[in-house]
Amino acid sequence: MSGTAWVNEALYSAWGQRFACKAEIARVRSRYQDILVFDSASHGRVLMLDGVVQITEADEFVYQEMMAHVPLLNHGDAARVLVIGGGDGGILRRVLQHRGVRRAVLVEIDEQVIALSKAHLPGIGGDAWTDPRAEVVVGDAIHYVFEAPAASFDAVIVDSTDPAGVGEVLFTEDFYRECARVLSDGGVVVNQGGVPFMQGEELRLSSARRAAFFPDTHAYAVAVPTYVGGLMAIGWAAKDPKCRAVTAAEVERRAAEAGVLGTTRYWTPEIHVGAFNLPPYIAECLRRA
Ligand code: SAM
Repeated sequence: MSGTAWVNEALYSAWGQRFACKAEIARVRSRYQDILVFDSASHGRVLMLDGVVQITEADEFVYQEMMAHVPLLNHGDAARVLVIGGGDGGILRRVLQHRGVRRAVLVEIDEQVIALSKAHLPGIGGDAWTDPRAEVVVGDAIHYVFEAPAASFDAVIVDSTDPAGVGEVLFTEDFYRECARVLSDGGVVVNQGGVPFMQGEELRLSSARRAAFFPDTHAYAVAVPTYVGGLMAIGWAAKDPKCRAVTAAEVERRAAEAGVLGTTRYWTPEIHVGAFNLPPYIAECLRRA
């Protein structure tokens, strides 16, 4: 494709993907990061932060479904959900699909990500932004969790950037200590845990930190096409060790009750349960030091 404009992902210095760019939609240097929204020839509209793919219209359903439905269906009675990061609105939209959710708070540090996502990626967040159960807070989530009352949430979903820059605080012992405090007794926290084939050390470190405050820590895997490097790990930490042990049949029953069954394109009850069975190269990142 001579004369094609390409957008190269800058996640890894020695390897990466590129997108043929049809048009640049928005490029803003916010207080926190470089925000780029562009139309790709292959994956629809793409959101990049500091040169790293956050979501594409073509495959965002994969990640958003697994980040939202797995913790809420394993919990089984999550009414109060805290979404951290997630300024594109995709996780918030899927959390609010669950009939049992009464309150969903999204804490995003960069209001420009929210504004540009609403303007240029409206299908990602959909009507989540105007749902009466939703509260959108612009701020650093580390401050939010320090100030939130104890046992005020049933699930925390950390849809952050990688552990660098503003995202770094969301992978610290302080953060996980506060997550354990703000979660109710059966509470669960999941977090975007990177692609272990390339970022295994991040998963090992964050898992060890979660293990200091949660009786059950693990991860589950999802194959997000544009998170290059093979399976992505979603970190798992639960205050009740029984929370993870739910059968596919029970997950299906809960999904039907929640109003989620039949609305997904990646998640199924069998994929949900199977995702916790990790290949050895990922499981080894979870072994307690
Ligand atoms: N799905 C993407 C992934 O897996 O990398 C993440 C998408 S979401 C856009 C990531 C968001 O986390 C960004 O909008 C970023 O501004 C936000 N973020 C990073 N650090 C944060 C913090 N300390 N508090 C709140 N939001 C934060």
